[in-house]
Amino acid sequence: MSDGIPADRDLHTDGGPDTVAVVGGGAVGATAAYDLARHDVDVTLFEAGHVAGGSSGRAAGICYDAFAEDVDARVAARAVERFRAFDGHGDFDFEETPYVWLARTGDDRRADAIREQVPRMRANDRDVALLDADDLATEFPTLRTDDVAVAAVARDAGVVDPATYPPLLASLAADEGATVREATPVRVALDGDGQHGPAVLHDDGERQAFGAVLVAAGAHTKRLLADAGIPIAMKPYRVQALTASFDRNVPVCYDATAGVYLRPHPDGLLVGDGTEEREADPDDWRRAADDWFVDGAVTAVAERTGREPSVERAWAGLCTATPDRDPLAGELDDGLYVATGFQGHGFMRAPALGEAVAAEMLGGDGIEPFAPTRFDGDESFAVVEGMVVDG
Ligand SMILES: Cc1cc2nc3c(=O)[nH]c(=O)nc-3n(C[C@H](O)[C@H](O)[C@H](O)COP(=O)(O)OP(=O)(O)OC[C@H]3O[C@@H](n4cnc5c(N)ncnc54)[C@H](O)[C@@H]3O)c2cc1C
Repeated sequence: MSDGIPADRDLHTDGGPDTVAVVGGGAVGATAAYDLARHDVDVTLFEAGHVAGGSSGRAAGICYDAFAEDVDARVAARAVERFRAFDGHGDFDFEETPYVWLARTGDDRRADAIREQVPRMRANDRDVALLDADDLATEFPTLRTDDVAVAAVARDAGVVDPATYPPLLASLAADEGATVREATPVRVALDGDGQHGPAVLHDDGERQAFGAVLVAAGAHTKRLLADAGIPIAMKPYRVQALTASFDRNVPVCYDATAGVYLRPHPDGLLVGDGTEEREADPDDWRRAADDWFVDGAVTAVAERTGREPSVERAWAGLCTATPDRDPLAGELDDGLYVATGFQGHGFMRAPALGEAVAAEMLGGDGIEPFAPTRFDGDESFAVVEGMVVDG
């Protein structure tokens, strides 16, 4: 494929390494391990803790294809297609449910952005529509709509339990012959002499060479690569979520003015965002949610639904930012690949991005706009919220 996004379940292979190490058993690493293993590559998936123990297991599990840029739209559409194909395998279920996003009256900047995005999404064949407040009330009667300036709905969307996806893909990878090594933190090293390939370094000092190494270590990716002498333009940052008991069924809804999203959840409701717009230390961050986030989320749900949720559990997790808010996905150095910088949208795109990086490792084209080498790695940039609707 010229744009690097595989269109069907067969990757177009053109050589590629015999052995690959994938570092990180999250949604992206587990997908890539599976796609490499099913193309007869000898894959070892190294996971520091347990598969899905990183951000993927802490995510909200909202998936949609509502992206305005053409590459983003194709990646997200491919991801939804694969989620549907994996539905019902292992413990993984993809529950189809529309995704609604809206701006409130008076928030002209975000309202204009939504009006501008939707035709571009439609031009990319995405099944999305603009709704006014009356349309929204008719289709989604459990949402309060009298303060809504404009809304949009994406039909190719769903919710999942994100902790069930990486184990499914890791087990499919193992079925294809991959070795999955949990509780195995590794570091990475470049091919020092141009002959032995990149390597992973074990805690006991062992150096294990591979034909190629993919670093998909989530928030730790920057530190791992920096230790190998390669800077990347990525910053981890903290976001938050909570679950609450709730007596109404609501659609997945992102209130862009409030900066809060909600989704139906087995406990009732999951509510999230709570972005801290500053770089976090991937080894030293607060796992519990902040009071300001919980209070704001409860208020936003009450404003959107007319009812106050009763909070059950609240937590934080890490996302990864880049200067242009696009991923870093592809080859960084000879045989050394990276997949990070998903700006809060890594889970929903994992089936496509993991597949695309695997395809590139097998000799295919990368996704050129996501090439990690577009940055030197020393750029200074501000962390901005991932789920932003702007003009
Ligand atoms: C609260 C919250 C809500 C979110 N909601 C959504 C959502 O609804 N939809 C969406 O698309 N995205 C969402 N995200 C973002 C999403 O979680 C991430 O973009 C995605 O999970 C990234 O997947 P990953 O595989 O890159 O990283 P991770 O899942 O973090 O996996 C990386 C793995 O690498 C391992 N690792 C680290 N260092 C090493 C090492 N040295 N050796 C071996 N292994 C190592 C870690 O243990 C970890 O398991 C949310 C994030 C949070 C925190």
